[in-house]
Amino acid sequence: DYPDIATPLRTQAIMNQYGINTKKSLGQNFLTNIGVLKQIVAAGEVTTTDNVVEIGPGIGALTEQLARAAQQVLAFEIDQRLIEVLAETLAPYQNVTVINQDILKVDLETALTQHFDDPKAPLKLVANLPYYITTPILMQVLESGITFDSIVVMMQKEVADRLSAEPGTKDYGSLTLAVQYRMQAKLAFTVDRRSFVPNPNVDSAIIVLTPREPLTVQPRDEKKLFQLFKVGFKLRRKTLWNNLISEFGKTEEVTTKLTTALETVGLDPRIRAEKLTLEQFITLHNALFDAGV
Ligand code: SAM
Repeated sequence: DYPDIATPLRTQAIMNQYGINTKKSLGQNFLTNIGVLKQIVAAGEVTTTDNVVEIGPGIGALTEQLARAAQQVLAFEIDQRLIEVLAETLAPYQNVTVINQDILKVDLETALTQHFDDPKAPLKLVANLPYYITTPILMQVLESGITFDSIVVMMQKEVADRLSAEPGTKDYGSLTLAVQYRMQAKLAFTVDRRSFVPNPNVDSAIIVLTPREPLTVQPRDEKKLFQLFKVGFKLRRKTLWNNLISEFGKTEEVTTKLTTALETVGLDPRIRAEKLTLEQFITLHNALFDAGV
């Protein structure tokens, strides 16, 4: 049994020993609250049969807890300075691999096949994300085509609220739809700023993503569907109609097609996009696609 990395004292000692000052530009806020780390691992229901991917291990606070709970852990850390730190802090754990790479430049599928001994094991992603790239990381992971049994990620609470939003609320938008199209999103719990060193200047929350129920309608063209999510919310206060014509033009030809498409799916043009469910968005996209818009 080794002492936890994630105490304020040990974290400070490690940082002093290596002369590490945290970089704000890399979103470095290290967790020093062991209770929160245990809650994160519990939220992922991580067990000794699981393969776990971590993004941004820092000095290893979460990695250590994952190593104790999982079969194997693969972690990606961009900051070269932390690699020698991790080599020491994680030395007791034989089931951890740290790769010194920018996660946004990693070919995840290849990395996973190369590093996990048991490719059939349940696959989970557990991370305290660098907040400045939360959305690009999530989109990369969701669009990688890799099936994660669960994704447990800490992020800015404001973003967590958007990912888990319901139609008709102020947080509901194109990001909500882009994520919920692939996974079910649940805000698990919020985390106090004092649980980190240094304290971040935003509130944090843990989001749990799990495979969603199959969609009742399939989009004709995924790329265009994602564009429609954005078009719908271009100007939040405007009606769906106004956002559509400002995107597609208001020539008679286009407005006729738009009118037909909206009628086909039974939508009042005066509705606002925030009222539309994901399924309604897909149906609308299909009607627009069929109308040639
Ligand atoms: N997991 C640690 C913890 O919970 O204490 C550190 C979390 S800290 C919020 C985010 C980590 O992500 C930092 O270690 C930072 O260096 C790393 N990071 C930032 N950008 C990255 C990128 N593009 N690819 C991989 N890691 C990155």
